[in-house]
Amino acid sequence: MSEEKTEVQLLQEKLLMDKKHAAKVIDDAEMAKAMDFAEGYKKFLNDNKTEREVAAFIIEEAKKHGFTEFDKFGTYKPGDKVYYLNRKKAVILAVIGKKSIGEGAHIAAAHIDSPRVDLKPNPLYESSEIALLKTHYYGGIRKYQWPTVPLSMHGVIVRKDGTEVNINIGEKEGEPQFIITDLLPHLAREQSERKLGQGIKGEELNVIVGSLPFKADAGSELVKLNILKMLNDKYGIVEEDFLTAEIEMVPATKVTDIGFDRSLIGGYGHDDRVCAYPELMAILELNEAPEHTAVAVFADKEETGSDGNTGLQSSYLRYFIADLARFEGLMGRDALSKSKCLSADVNAAFDPTFPSPFETANSAYINKGIVVTKYTGSGGKGGTSDASAEFVGEVTRIFNAADVCWQMAELGAVDAGGGGTVAKYVANLDIDVVDVGVPVLSMHAPYEVVSKLDVYMTNKAVSAFFKA
Ligand code: MN
Ligand code: MN
Repeated sequence: MSEEKTEVQLLQEKLLMDKKHAAKVIDDAEMAKAMDFAEGYKKFLNDNKTEREVAAFIIEEAKKHGFTEFDKFGTYKPGDKVYYLNRKKAVILAVIGKKSIGEGAHIAAAHIDSPRVDLKPNPLYESSEIALLKTHYYGGIRKYQWPTVPLSMHGVIVRKDGTEVNINIGEKEGEPQFIITDLLPHLAREQSERKLGQGIKGEELNVIVGSLPFKADAGSELVKLNILKMLNDKYGIVEEDFLTAEIEMVPATKVTDIGFDRSLIGGYGHDDRVCAYPELMAILELNEAPEHTAVAVFADKEETGSDGNTGLQSSYLRYFIADLARFEGLMGRDALSKSKCLSADVNAAFDPTFPSPFETANSAYINKGIVVTKYTGSGGKGGTSDASAEFVGEVTRIFNAADVCWQMAELGAVDAGGGGTVAKYVANLDIDVVDVGVPVLSMHAPYEVVSKLDVYMTNKAVSAFFKA
């Protein structure tokens, strides 16, 4: 017995926005596809924990998919695939389009660095017969979250003779791990009076690396000496080699499904590998020449403000596009000003346990699909690129045509805080750009959470953009 709809119901259907749960807009077959995509992402996240590791993975996968090293004086035809590796820490992949680069590239830009704890240049010391490493945290971490989390050590050491040693300890089964300590509650009365932001101070993020002394009748700092001897035996390094090293301590935890329904993924470094991976898969799967040249940027240093030659404030993206323009006899600016970009970065997912810094109507929600963020910034839209209505319209039409489940949000309530992405640096190149990405719970924590459906929708969205 079907009842006729009331006037109110009809008007509601016609006029009100209906943002659906991603699970309600896909069928069983696509749900299976999304879950399958998540498995690939989980493996990637487990295996690649630093920008150098992600960059190496991207190059390896790109080569397997027919990408060749970009020759800036070369000539290319539609469908050709090229890669450019910037100092082992940032990557650009491109598939040459059917149209001239003068009609603009379709660019997606994610970052592959994540918040972590770096070693200082002079890290190793001994105190109370414990060997420790001094650190300097990287990016916006909540310092109190990092003690008592098992850590692994990743990075590179350049020895005096110029040879390099790659370090990766604590990820494989049976390998030792490392730890930052915290006080026991019994003796934390004074520490507990500190404000949360000072709960653990920067100079308290010291990593324990050993406690056995070198066997000798006499001598000082024998625990430190013992550690150095072990490092020398294994890697051929001496203390001074730490001066020419980049060593990152990251959570040694493994990626896992979260929830009885396995709908979520817990892991370290979702920000922003959860956008980098869908973007990578989208460009690797471009089997025929797209209309516009597709460019996938995997940037470093976003978490510290995109400074430095591997961050997007550097000119390498601009130069890359200019080099593509040159073989057509065009100026770089001809291509840049016509180009369009998805700045693929995460946004904060509404957290029901901590609702106060969110404004519910303009928050991102897990499982509501890829989030489009018109602007980020703080303090009255400061420090951001505010995407134009025209460009947001163009991008969301592409998403709608491809059945992408998407939502729009700000980054938290007005004046609750704020943040930024690479979007403003891309916009500075005279490129139309808007932020899109996966909503994340506990962003920047040692263990972050995302939804599998949102990861899948991000891949679908970037694919559709590359093909548009
Ligand atoms: Mn990010
Ligand atoms: Mn971040």
